[in-house]
Amino acid sequence: MRIPTTIWTDLLDFLFPQYCAACSSRLVEGEEQLCLHCMSRLPYTAHSGRNDNAVMRLFADLGCPIQAAASMLNYSAEKNVQRLIFSLKYYGNRKLAFTMGRLMAIRSRTECSEADFLLPVPLHRRRERRRGYNQAEWLCRGMSSVWGTPVATHALRRRIATGSQAHKSHAERRAIMQNNVFVTNRIDNLAGKKLLLVDDVITTGSTLTACAMPLLNIPEVRLCVLTLAAAAV
Ligand SMILES: [Zn+2]
Repeated sequence: MRIPTTIWTDLLDFLFPQYCAACSSRLVEGEEQLCLHCMSRLPYTAHSGRNDNAVMRLFADLGCPIQAAASMLNYSAEKNVQRLIFSLKYYGNRKLAFTMGRLMAIRSRTECSEADFLLPVPLHRRRERRRGYNQAEWLCRGMSSVWGTPVATHALRRRIATGSQAHKSHAERRAIMQNNVFVTNRIDNLAGKKLLLVDDVITTGSTLTACAMPLLNIPEVRLCVLTLAAAAV
């Protein structure tokens, strides 16, 4: 006798209940990582497709020549977004990162969608070992599942562990940008390509600018930036 799939689904749900990453309410069938209520209340920015958005201005102020840049969510608008980012960053929630990556790809109307490669901002290898995964890489994987764009996981490497940028002074952040914290690997593969640099949150822009600098030294590279959320911009 074959047991209908719905009974298995109900049994799995009973044994391993799933909870919303933002509000912790129990998920029902058809909900993935976020409940419908939280999904419908995500505070989207109006960045996509606009060249004069706050993230573009941030890079312009830092003297970083990016072609296009956008963040999907406003980090500070909702406590739920902060919980979501926390779950993705510190609880190793790969599925959430993948789902958010898919949403970023679906909602992005910028020219970023035509990139040749998606580049996750790398963690230092010690931190990645401790955390078990790189959330930016899983955002890229989710985006790649929509666009079909390959993820260049090892194109960038973080030489120096710098920690969170949020509480660093202006001088410390400037030092991060000038100290070759990130280096590129396999430079030949990226020459002449359009690259999309991806991270979870942009705060001061110094980490993404430090990533961008070695990439912009590659001949004829065009660079765009997309983050899940933007804080303080
Ligand atoms: Zn929820």
